[in-house]
Amino acid sequence: MKRASTQLSRGLTQSATSQVFKSRPRIKIVEVSPRDGLQNEATVLDAATRAGLIASLAKAGLPFIEAGSFVSPKVKQMANTRDVLLSETLRPVLQDGKTVLSVLIPNMRGYQDFKNTMQSLQEDGVDASRIEVAVFASATEAFSKANLNASRAVALDQLAQVAQAALNNNVKVRGYVSCVVKCPYEGIVEPREVASTAKSLSEMGCYEISLGDTIGAGNIYTLEDMLSAVVGRMPLSQLAAHCHDTNGKACENVLHLVKLGVQTVDSSLAGLGGCPYAPGAKGNVATEDVVRVLEENFYDTGLVQELPGQTHEAALWQKLQDLSRLGQEIKGKLKSEADV
Ligand code: MG
Repeated sequence: MKRASTQLSRGLTQSATSQVFKSRPRIKIVEVSPRDGLQNEATVLDAATRAGLIASLAKAGLPFIEAGSFVSPKVKQMANTRDVLLSETLRPVLQDGKTVLSVLIPNMRGYQDFKNTMQSLQEDGVDASRIEVAVFASATEAFSKANLNASRAVALDQLAQVAQAALNNNVKVRGYVSCVVKCPYEGIVEPREVASTAKSLSEMGCYEISLGDTIGAGNIYTLEDMLSAVVGRMPLSQLAAHCHDTNGKACENVLHLVKLGVQTVDSSLAGLGGCPYAPGAKGNVATEDVVRVLEENFYDTGLVQELPGQTHEAALWQKLQDLSRLGQEIKGKLKSEADV
């Protein structure tokens, strides 16, 4: 298979050119720990702790935070998402004019819960216009049935209803494709299946599609093949990388995809969110690792601000310390709740 499309080659050339001119290309970090992370941890945290985590992440400068989900109440980790969004702790985040929050919604029942929550915020006089919706589709039939309890066609139809309802209410919609390289049930995933799923999400109105290597099976070659196929169906600027660190390759994979021109990267503070299909394995790539790798490779995450007289290295070190402290804090809370 041809390894790089013209557009992907152009992405690499642009990165190299930018380095020559000393301008760091901006990469948007999407912080997923309060949803993807906590949903995949065994311990259930209360709404106040979850809201506190989101507020701390916003304070640390994360511009986009996946805040929760309106899924089945059986998913206890996310059952109090309404309380999280209505929490007083989140009011400054909703009002700061720079942080975007998103909530994952699989069907119209979840959308109704979301809509009721938005109405409550409006009744409280809170501007909720920076809250977005996220929808989640699988590139394989078996994962769709296991994760969404529906075939791909049925799931996409449900998601299209959610997306339409959100767009009708002027709420932006972000999409995820899971299992973009390998599926825990079906094995290797054909890049054209990923491209077709991503295209469906784009057509239902998702402004951005996050490509998830859900079980962390990808390497730079398989991910590049997959990206090439997707870029044949939609602009590179619409795509995000979502890598898992199961095999310890997540940072290498993220950097490769960014060098190919991907401008948005999903990551999770302290790598929160283990991999449910590989017990004991690392889950989401850690935000601290992504920030370090990108900044060291001359990309600008927007998180590292140098003070007068301070070197970039010192500012980066300070930011990594801050994120690490926050990560240890939330891991400590997970541990102490688990010990109760
Ligand atoms: Mg993930």
